[in-house]
Amino acid sequence: MKTTDPQIFRLNIPHGCRRLPIHCPICGQIAAINDARVFAPCQHLVCSYIEADGSWGYLSPDFVARMREVDLRVHTPDNVAMLRDLGYDDNLLAIEVSYTGMPGPRRYLDLYAFRPPIEFQPL
Ligand SMILES: [Zn+2]
Repeated sequence: MKTTDPQIFRLNIPHGCRRLPIHCPICGQIAAINDARVFAPCQHLVCSYIEADGSWGYLSPDFVARMREVDLRVHTPDNVAMLRDLGYDDNLLAIEVSYTGMPGPRRYLDLYAFRPPIEFQPL
């Protein structure tokens, strides 16, 4: 059975730990470093959202065009639903990094989404 939702890999990092460097799962190029800023996005990076900053770290031209099409102006907490609403299906690989734990209940959720240049073919 073919899925239609974007594929999301979830990491849970204890609050207060150093941010992990995020690499593109397709080409391996580093997509974000410790402060979560994207300096040189590879061709696969679609978007990044940094909840601690309350801002998009990176938006590809394709992502911006899709946002305009569905009139999405802000990030929504449900990343799967948001990416699906933007027309991305299972041909999108996303990494969701949450920062949880002590101190306090605050949880930050960062999102990095990547798209391969061609569609994956089921085996
Ligand atoms: Zn890449």
